[in-house]
Amino acid sequence: MQHVLGLKCTICGKTYRTGEIAYVCPDHGDDGIVDVQYDYDVIAANISRPHLAKNSDPTIWRYKPLIAVDPATPVPPMRVGWTPLYEAPRLAERLHLKHVWVKDDGMNPTASFKDRASAVAVVKAHEEGAEIITTASTGNAAAALAGLSASVGLPAVIFVPKAAPPAKIAQHLIYGARVMLVDGTYDDAFELTLKVAREFGWYNRNTAYNPYMSEGKKTAAFEVCEQLTLALSPAPYTGAGKWIAPDRIFVPVGDGCIIGGIHKGLKDLIALGWIDHMPKIMGIQAAGSSALVDAWERGLQGWEMTPQPAETIADSISAGLPRDRNKALAAVRETGGAYLRVSDQEILDAIPVIARNTGVFSEPAAAASYAGLVKAVAQGMVDSEEHVVVLLTGSGLKDIKSAMKTVPEPPIVAPDLEAVREIIE
Ligand SMILES: *Cc1c(COP(=O)(O)O)cnc(C)c1O
Ligand SMILES: [Zn+2]
Repeated sequence: MQHVLGLKCTICGKTYRTGEIAYVCPDHGDDGIVDVQYDYDVIAANISRPHLAKNSDPTIWRYKPLIAVDPATPVPPMRVGWTPLYEAPRLAERLHLKHVWVKDDGMNPTASFKDRASAVAVVKAHEEGAEIITTASTGNAAAALAGLSASVGLPAVIFVPKAAPPAKIAQHLIYGARVMLVDGTYDDAFELTLKVAREFGWYNRNTAYNPYMSEGKKTAAFEVCEQLTLALSPAPYTGAGKWIAPDRIFVPVGDGCIIGGIHKGLKDLIALGWIDHMPKIMGIQAAGSSALVDAWERGLQGWEMTPQPAETIADSISAGLPRDRNKALAAVRETGGAYLRVSDQEILDAIPVIARNTGVFSEPAAAASYAGLVKAVAQGMVDSEEHVVVLLTGSGLKDIKSAMKTVPEPPIVAPDLEAVREIIE
């Protein structure tokens, strides 16, 4: 992989060649999360904006030269990425803003953002010659891995907390993954998977521990800028000018891999000279699982953080010790963004508001992103002229039980006209 220079430790800055380490910087145990370093001259020789303008591949693989995979490795057939970016004028109006956009990552094949990372995981497992792949997950990462693995016939073993929403567990089982429900939290499942993968020699997809997951997740940042440019440029779009970056991006945060990935993608675009400013990245956590908000407020570094209790209805962002905390804090600090907490009630309230004003049905973790925008506006953080993007990271069909808490029971009606008239009047 000519375009990959190495893997740089996010704690000590030591850089390794790929292949020299499997996952993390050995000087810091399992916390030594590394970041993939690129040669942007090599990348620029293989991909350009005009080239992308003519590329009809509607998946993350349109950006393959920007991802740390061997160009020759086959990619899974499922259609991951290039999810819709919708303008949301009615949401904007509610908030007295002018330009609000939502990105519907529930449109991915297993209905969450995690498909972006799991697609890359399957490619890396193939490159490593792995026979089995494993992951810990709150539910969506495992559903994504189960689906992407099934698409290429790679056996997957997954560890999820036993309290994961049934729809997600159904996905794991139907895709034929070997499922183990852990009698504990996501953090317990994570630690267990580290031991199990080492013991049995399985390829480990665990978020943050595996450095390539950020590289899959960053594709959403490329799409946001390319799609915003397509939407705002006169047709025909040729890719001649720079891409348009939004001013602010709202990201729901659990482990911090998505937010770190978004930051990475934007840094790639800056390095290539494809965008001219860095958007402010806003990290939104559930109040009951807000270790990164605490650390940001207290000025802590990722390696100074300790495990906190994590309890929220938004299961996908429940993480006591966010695994990608170094990258997650840098994303907000280096872009002049902020971390905000939203309550479970604010998250639930956001679900029907998003759905009724955009047509997008979100699971609680995804809705947290919009609840964060509401809070940021209330706190006067957002200028009305800004272009704001809200990442909606997962489909509402993933967690019907939570969604149904936000709406009344419908009436049961006898099958005749008069009964309907009575209800309507
Ligand atoms: C995983 C997930 C998140 C949070 O991503 P992290 O990388 O853990 O911060 C947000 N929303 C949904 C729907 C998810 O599945
Ligand atoms: Zn290190």
